[in-house]
Amino acid sequence: MQKLEPARGKNKTTAWMAGALSAAMLLGTGAQSAVAAEQPDIEAQNVIILIPDGMGMDGTTLARWYNGGEALAMDEMASGLVRTYSADAAIADSAPAGTAFATGHKSHTGYVGVLPDKNTMPGLEAIASGDEKKPVANVLEAARLAGKSTGIIATSEIMHATPAAFSAHYPDRGNYDALSEQQVYAGIDVVLGGGAKYFTAKEREDGEDLQAVIEDLGYDLVKNPAELNASDSDKLWGMFADSAMSYEMDRNPEEQPSLAEMTSKAIDVLDRNEDGFFLMVEGSKVDWAAHANDPIGIISDVNAFDDAVGEALEFAKADGNTMVIAVTDHANGGISIGDRATTGTYDTEPLETFIAPLLKAKLTGEGVEAKLATPRTNNNIKQVMAEYYGIADLTNKEVEAIRRADAGRLNGVIGPMISERAHIGWTSGGHTGGDVVLYSYAPNGQKLSGLLENTDIAREMASALGVDLDAVTKQLFVPAEAAFEAKGAQVTTDDSDAANPVLVVTKGNNTLRLPVFKSVAELNGQSVQLDGNVIHNGQQFFLPQDAIDLLP
Ligand SMILES: [Zn+2]
Repeated sequence: MQKLEPARGKNKTTAWMAGALSAAMLLGTGAQSAVAAEQPDIEAQNVIILIPDGMGMDGTTLARWYNGGEALAMDEMASGLVRTYSADAAIADSAPAGTAFATGHKSHTGYVGVLPDKNTMPGLEAIASGDEKKPVANVLEAARLAGKSTGIIATSEIMHATPAAFSAHYPDRGNYDALSEQQVYAGIDVVLGGGAKYFTAKEREDGEDLQAVIEDLGYDLVKNPAELNASDSDKLWGMFADSAMSYEMDRNPEEQPSLAEMTSKAIDVLDRNEDGFFLMVEGSKVDWAAHANDPIGIISDVNAFDDAVGEALEFAKADGNTMVIAVTDHANGGISIGDRATTGTYDTEPLETFIAPLLKAKLTGEGVEAKLATPRTNNNIKQVMAEYYGIADLTNKEVEAIRRADAGRLNGVIGPMISERAHIGWTSGGHTGGDVVLYSYAPNGQKLSGLLENTDIAREMASALGVDLDAVTKQLFVPAEAAFEAKGAQVTTDDSDAANPVLVVTKGNNTLRLPVFKSVAELNGQSVQLDGNVIHNGQQFFLPQDAIDLLP
């Protein structure tokens, strides 16, 4: 049992105890809020959460200086801190980190929307035997069942870990087939991002043409900004790239919308629902740039993210009934303004030391790849680096590294070269374990404040929307076999198409077929729409209660 360290002073101790008790009651298996501050009772018809994946604090500061020092849109929302660790690690992977924001439960590396096998970090309650990898409801599902419209947006492929955590359940973030099929059948109103190829029969092991299914389900499927803007459909699916979308700095505005444009369009569509909406927006590639130790990619996409926050905040202020949260899922790279070389000079370096080399960049490494000759030559590399980065002093070793860089890997080669010249430091090519800044805005000037757990974010959003995540988990994820056997039904699995297993339940003259990762059952040959998807977690099936109720 973790030793609890309350804030000092009598009054604070009392406030802390009340906060910890109510948080513990709310949190269930995610309970650990030894340090969670007490939060105001926020009510909001709409909630928008924006996640700049992997955004470390110095990266945000760097973007602000790069812009000339004027405030970012999110600056006025800075209100607290969030702990990011996962169920069993001090440094979180995006899958459990997204799962914590979406469901209120910490989880394990790679696990999307399901419980971990074990909680081993200090202060966490044990996972009950039999609950390992059990799906748990997310805020989007709870909002949808409450009659609200819902949306997800990402600049990565849409089935990447963070958007998947708000729309799917599977203990392997790499299983794009499982995650994307659930997204198609999840009843989400607006889905905007990349990943088009993963919805085609050619790329899928299950051989399903999900782009055709998306259109059959009534979505307006749009593939460029003109089509996005022209659409007046209430169900909108945008696929703007085969895999990830471009960094903002490299983006062709004829081919791809900005994150702010996607956010604005989504709000327009979702706000048509009188009962309100829930929207998740991810600036996905801040994280990718951090993995590459690339300050240009970070500045590019922190600014693009901030523009999206600006859209959400402007709407919320005008609307008066909307909560906006902006928070990263973890920091990444250990980015710092100042590096080892400025150890003796840091307090005399002018701002230009850090910013001037960055201002010369016209594209990220990803964008500059197409500017290089094929095959790459030393002269061409020197020319391109001078033209697009103002770097005229490349060493022979650097030229060689650029010449040999694999396709799609240039941010990780050029980023460190720019960092060295701008004295931007890095401690890692991976995620880091520190707390992150919470940005929040709610009606009547309310804010979330103090130190929160990442799981508290889900609980606070659910509370603001007036939905109950635990009740929705019970409604959507009933262990199938036990429930049907209790009715005296026979349960088998039809594996004749190995990539598309079907749970088959028979009782008397009734046959119920439940294809995996879809929300459609077949009762005696008739299609029935379910409240949620048929989930298989690699071990067993979980079904919404209305599927169980189809048999007497
Ligand atoms: Zn992440």
